[in-house]
Amino acid sequence: MSQNNIAENLKAVEERIQAACRRSGRDRKDVLLICVTKTKPVSLLEEAYRAGERAFGENRVQEIVDKFPQLPGDINWHMIGHLQKNKVKYLMDRAVMIHSVDNEALAAVISKEAVKAGRVMPVLIEVNVAGEETKFGVSPEETEALIRKIADLPGLKVSGLMTIAPYTEDPEKSRPFFRQLRELSVDIKNKSIDNVSMDHLSMGMTGDYEVAIEEGATMIRVGTGIFGERQYAVQ
Ligand SMILES: *Cc1c(COP(=O)(O)O)cnc(C)c1O
Repeated sequence: MSQNNIAENLKAVEERIQAACRRSGRDRKDVLLICVTKTKPVSLLEEAYRAGERAFGENRVQEIVDKFPQLPGDINWHMIGHLQKNKVKYLMDRAVMIHSVDNEALAAVISKEAVKAGRVMPVLIEVNVAGEETKFGVSPEETEALIRKIADLPGLKVSGLMTIAPYTEDPEKSRPFFRQLRELSVDIKNKSIDNVSMDHLSMGMTGDYEVAIEEGATMIRVGTGIFGERQYAVQ
């Protein structure tokens, strides 16, 4: 894929983001595009960087650790994938946010490592809105209880919710799940839990980010639409 393509792909994505914002009466500044760079080589990330992108998302800690020193220091790295407790420490001086907290034990480790590193880590609660067995995430019914359990942990700030909608060819099929996540975040916001904000809704990927914006996403996570299909090595 040539450098032109990445810049062009980004331009096309940007136009669609702006159109979705216009349709839903939203301000473009309230939607962050996170470029999902997993499996992609540093050269392609550099192209996105040169095109002006500064928010990158990875789903494996090892890839953040590998790529971080090879790229400019003003990139904001988002950890968007399932996270093992023993890897949390590597994120403290690299990631701006963890999108995938779905249990108390993980939150406790994030808290401990953040305190050790002298920082506060913003986290999102990953919600399995559709109840898919193959997906990580807490159920909508258990989300408030989990938030109440971890809200007071030092070094950690619950800042919103994240979801991955079930795979579909039809973005309209994702709309009810995005709407449900937004409604859940409004419910929780209305409880005014100390040290908890519901500022962020991380939802929408290549196939459904426009619908997600219409339903209130503040962060969309787009990989394929910018960098092309991912090639996974045959193991
Ligand atoms: C890979 C990934 C994405 C991006 O998916 P695309 O369909 O390539 O845009 C978004 N969110 C998460 C959590 C991912 O793992």
